[in-house]
Amino acid sequence: MANGRFAPSPTGVLHLGNLRTALVAWLFARSSGGSFVVRMEDLDPATSSKEKAAAQLVDLASIGLDWDGEVVVQSERFDLYASALGRLTSDNLTYPCFCTRREVAEALSAPHGANPGHYPGTCRSLSVDEAGARIGSGQRFALRLRSERTLISFVDRIAGPHEGVPDDVVLRRNDGMPAYNLAVVVDDELQSVEEVVRADDLLASTPSQMALGAVLGFRTQRYAHISLVLGPTGQRLAKRDGAVTLADLRAAGLRASDVLSILAASLNLANVGEAVTPERLLARFEPDSLPREPWTVPTHIRAASA
Ligand code: GLU
Repeated sequence: MANGRFAPSPTGVLHLGNLRTALVAWLFARSSGGSFVVRMEDLDPATSSKEKAAAQLVDLASIGLDWDGEVVVQSERFDLYASALGRLTSDNLTYPCFCTRREVAEALSAPHGANPGHYPGTCRSLSVDEAGARIGSGQRFALRLRSERTLISFVDRIAGPHEGVPDDVVLRRNDGMPAYNLAVVVDDELQSVEEVVRADDLLASTPSQMALGAVLGFRTQRYAHISLVLGPTGQRLAKRDGAVTLADLRAAGLRASDVLSILAASLNLANVGEAVTPERLLARFEPDSLPREPWTVPTHIRAASA
């Protein structure tokens, strides 16, 4: 048994890629007899809204997915993230970082070190006095994890063996908001999640999240990262690609059940055009047969709305 979750950001309408990830996450949890929860990752107030969150839940339900208990909303849980951060800080596992976004980007674009894409560690070695002086002078700062930087290996249920060195991820942003990596790790623990199923754009963040969970004393998660859905240009599917939401597809004459069939076929769980229900998919769900390659939305589905 493995409890699972789907954790969308309510920043827009769910598209085929998001719905496909939700379906896979639901299948993993429900087929194992585990609970399945939904969490709204609305840490960014500028792009998230309650209306978008509500519409996402309607879309999940309309393809036949259900979830347990109340939907957890991250913007209501800042005290929980602050308390985890307090524990890390008192264990000397955080440090203030004064780098601007631009400075980090510049440092990252210069050829350096063994872990390209990682924070280069500019502020990690600042003395307590220097950091204190900068804070005292009113400089804005983020808090980063002082990570151990030792290689972490794990076997992803879909992507297979994977390894990476944890990054000094931001835990609290320089505007005082909790950062995604902290919130996700705290919530997965508090929501009793045991298996994190999500899109594979987050595979690279996984070693950092594992390291963070470990220093907080949390249970070890299992992971399953499903490949992304691509649009016609070969880029990750986005709203600009046309008929990619349930509303678009409905306007083109497709029912939610047709969309479920399309998603099931893309996951090797049904033949193209076969009518399915979530329950029928549960009975035949087999993690090992899930595709590892990205799925490009077939032209005829997008053309349906043209
Ligand atoms: N909220 C993230 C997203 O919408 C997913 C985070 C996760 O599943 O860990 O991409």
